[in-house]
Amino acid sequence: MGKIISFANQKGGVGKTTSAVNIAASLGVLGYKTLLVDLDPQGNATSGVGVAKKGLKFTIKDVLMGDCKIEDSIIQTEFEKLSLIPANMSLAGTEFDLLQEDTPEPWAVMRNAFASIKDQYDYIIVDCPPSLGMLTMNSLSASDGVVVPMQCEFYALEGLSQLMITISKIKTHYNTGLTVTGILLTMYTNRLLLTQQVKNELKKHYAGKLFDTHISRGVKLSEAPGFGLPVYYHDKKGKGTAEYLAVANELATRI
Ligand code: ADP
Ligand code: MG
Repeated sequence: MGKIISFANQKGGVGKTTSAVNIAASLGVLGYKTLLVDLDPQGNATSGVGVAKKGLKFTIKDVLMGDCKIEDSIIQTEFEKLSLIPANMSLAGTEFDLLQEDTPEPWAVMRNAFASIKDQYDYIIVDCPPSLGMLTMNSLSASDGVVVPMQCEFYALEGLSQLMITISKIKTHYNTGLTVTGILLTMYTNRLLLTQQVKNELKKHYAGKLFDTHISRGVKLSEAPGFGLPVYYHDKKGKGTAEYLAVANELATRI
């Protein structure tokens, strides 16, 4: 059975896209047939795997609007076992359009659209936009799991409790099968006392949810998207590569 996993956090700049791209690529390297879905109008996951945002025939917007068959939106990337459903700015109005449509269940559009391809993949990784709007709601309603990337900041803890409340509401009302796969600490620096404090708080409140592996801050991870490469293909022997492979392995044991 294929598993759909949302990478979600309403805060921007916390490492959602970096983690979605690199975990999806790592799962491919580990031998899992993986589909990366870009659900952010910014299209950073799209360009992050070397696909140009301009001139795309179909994007996730066309899938959600019912304007193409989902199969026709899937692009093979040049990376091992990794395919992509791309996004670009055309997705910006979709949040609104989903609510305008005469759809009886606007939160279930993505779940219905993905039903026919779900089992063709081991993992479908969805890079959500930085909000808890209708796009993220669609992704969470379609998902088996959610990964929450976060930075070790004090305010991140407040954001996290809000996100957890949203997740449990979605679980109650729309998708009883949804579970929190894990919380992933990104841009980690061991030096800061705050890092340790946040980590301890997380362990106290979300025992068992924190991934054992954290992602260190590293320049290779931030420069790889500029080359359109997941870090494995940019810096194979590097720390970022090893850490994302380790998280992907952990994820595969959890879901
Ligand atoms: P989000 O998708 O949550 O907005 P991104 O993944 O785009 O976050 O990351 C925000 C910025 O931080 C990007 O410029 C990205 O390259 C950088 N970044 C993410 N993770 C790391 C890391 N581990 N080390 C260094 N820079 C990182
Ligand atoms: Mg992003």
